[in-house]
Amino acid sequence: MTITCHACQATDATKPRTPEHFHRHPRNPDGLQHHCKTCQRARCKAAYDRKYKAAISVRASEKQREAWIRNRRKKPANTPI
Ligand SMILES: [Zn+2]
Repeated sequence: MTITCHACQATDATKPRTPEHFHRHPRNPDGLQHHCKTCQRARCKAAYDRKYKAAISVRASEKQREAWIRNRRKKPANTPI
């Protein structure tokens, strides 16, 4: 029995529904994941990038803001005119 994973259907790739091509998933009826290993890897990487790249950019902007505040305070407040 050959069933493609949902993501593979776009590329017309057919893979046999075996543990060789699909990761195991005990709660699914056939015990295998819906997506093949290749697609699963791509999905995980995309999810990782979404989660952590966003966090990294937020952290970077926070650092910039802190630096801006720090540098602003460095300027003498009461400079003689
Ligand atoms: Zn696939």
